[in-house]
Amino acid sequence: MSEKDNSRMAQNFIHDLIDEDIAPGGRYEGKRVHTRFPPEPNGYLHIGHAKAIYVDFGTAQKYNGLCNLRMDDTNPTKEDVEFVDAIEEDIRWLGYDWEDRFYYASDYFEQMYQYAEELIRAGKAYVCQLSPEEFRQMRGDVNVPARSPYRDRPVEESLDLFRRMRAGEFPNGAMTLRAKIDLASGNFNMRDPVIYRINHMAHHRTGEAWCIYPMYDFAHPIEDALEGITHSLCTLEFEDHRPLYDWVIDNISCPNKPRQIEFARLGIDHTVMSKRKLRALVEGGYVSGWDDPRMPTICGLRRRGYTPASIRNFSEANGVSKAASTVEYAFLEHCLREDLDATAARAMAVLRPIPLTITNYPEGQSETFQIENHPKKPEMGTREVSFSRHLFIEADDFMEEPIKKYKRLSPGGLECRLKGAYIIRCTGCVKDEAGNVVEVLAEYDPNSRGGDPADGRKIKGAALHWVDAVTAVEARVRLYDNLFDDAAPDAAGKDFLACLNPNSLEELEGCKLEASLASAKAPASFQFLRLGYFCVDSKDSKPGALVFNRSVSLKDGFKKR
Ligand code: ATP
Ligand code: MG
Repeated sequence: MSEKDNSRMAQNFIHDLIDEDIAPGGRYEGKRVHTRFPPEPNGYLHIGHAKAIYVDFGTAQKYNGLCNLRMDDTNPTKEDVEFVDAIEEDIRWLGYDWEDRFYYASDYFEQMYQYAEELIRAGKAYVCQLSPEEFRQMRGDVNVPARSPYRDRPVEESLDLFRRMRAGEFPNGAMTLRAKIDLASGNFNMRDPVIYRINHMAHHRTGEAWCIYPMYDFAHPIEDALEGITHSLCTLEFEDHRPLYDWVIDNISCPNKPRQIEFARLGIDHTVMSKRKLRALVEGGYVSGWDDPRMPTICGLRRRGYTPASIRNFSEANGVSKAASTVEYAFLEHCLREDLDATAARAMAVLRPIPLTITNYPEGQSETFQIENHPKKPEMGTREVSFSRHLFIEADDFMEEPIKKYKRLSPGGLECRLKGAYIIRCTGCVKDEAGNVVEVLAEYDPNSRGGDPADGRKIKGAALHWVDAVTAVEARVRLYDNLFDDAAPDAAGKDFLACLNPNSLEELEGCKLEASLASAKAPASFQFLRLGYFCVDSKDSKPGALVFNRSVSLKDGFKKR
């Protein structure tokens, strides 16, 4: 990690509130700041979660506090064990550690049930038998309070029914447990919200033990309280639920009173971020999986070549506030580029090769150059790159009839540098019967070893990357573009699948790489000169059958603006 990554999170409004809370006389004076990250294990984590992880774990770090990891698995219908492992792996990879504080919300089901009974006994909750249809009819509107004919049923009756709900005597939907708060509240979350419902469905951890499950708004504050959380940091959509969060905490005999603070979600253009939509992309076969390098999932970004530091820096740079905003995808790329520029070794690869023959270089002869791995980091060393009469260059580095200002190879055109090797001048080309150029011809200046002419003359052509055809290794290389053409595929009411970019993946076969890359293994990243940053694909690349992904191009679309 660079120094920047280790620095503490910049002060934000959440920290201002925490400072007040832990100051003398504050609500948590003398207490250690304790946060949690509570993913629902129903999908893989995405870059939005990375922001929440950064806020939760980063805030704990800033205060020398603690952050728990808690699987929020109160909803039995959707969770899947597969996701739990992936979530842990992703958070660790991002560089955070929950130590031994790994919890499941479902571990608290019994305790939650006891708190629910406590509310009933205190006359603060009742069993309601409105059907879903009647419930809707009686919810009222801004001017009309909600109604429930069961609101004033005797405590004993509610207690009996609730116990029988638990015992499995009633079918789904027959009744609910509702908190008795305020049917006339302007905040509909407070209009006697349902806190338990019947659901005859097995849970991935508790099995058949329960057929009633707590609602999120009731369960979450209890989970926080039981774990000794001081600050429950969450996204803005929970702001209207905070009065209910506080109500639950204030009306049960819990050991500790956490404080909920909301911040704005992260949105990124040209992408979708809800798990439902990401799942649809996977299940519909629009991408190769959750870890497709075009996905905004953490595992997709990792496979694309994103580094933990680039993601943390992205989160830090975006800041934390209450104002919703959409960040440019180009900014995420910018953060990756900055990190890889500093850390990735340089190498040469030719993606769309055409043979280049150095006609005055003897057949069968070869030599090697020591080329530095990083122009600004001598400590990264050098590597051996071979050179011979037969090379490959990019097909578009040659034009038989050059357009204006073309600075690369054309017959009799400008002298060009073969990066790190020699100066050459193109002398012609060879064509097949159809008239396609199949080979470029050039002569080299023997007095320019290393790439600089002995007489100091100015070389006006471009510096070209190249690969020795004799030692080159082949690879497949995948180039990526935005998964969605549309800048806002996530916007309400939009058919996001119709916004998919049909050209988001281009796979090139027969690319030629310098020999030093033959043993490259994931998660290695390189800057291929003039082409961008590329990583070894963690799934498909094998020795002898290399696959590289372009993580990001060199051109910075963000800085330019
Ligand atoms: P999604 O809507 O993508 O399915 P979610 O909020 O349902 O996400 P959870 O697993 O419940 O997913 O999220 C865990 C935590 O991550 C929550 O505290 C949630 O607020 C936070 N989170 C989810 N998406 C974002 C986002 N785009 N930006 C910041 N935080 C997010
Ligand atoms: Mg959620």
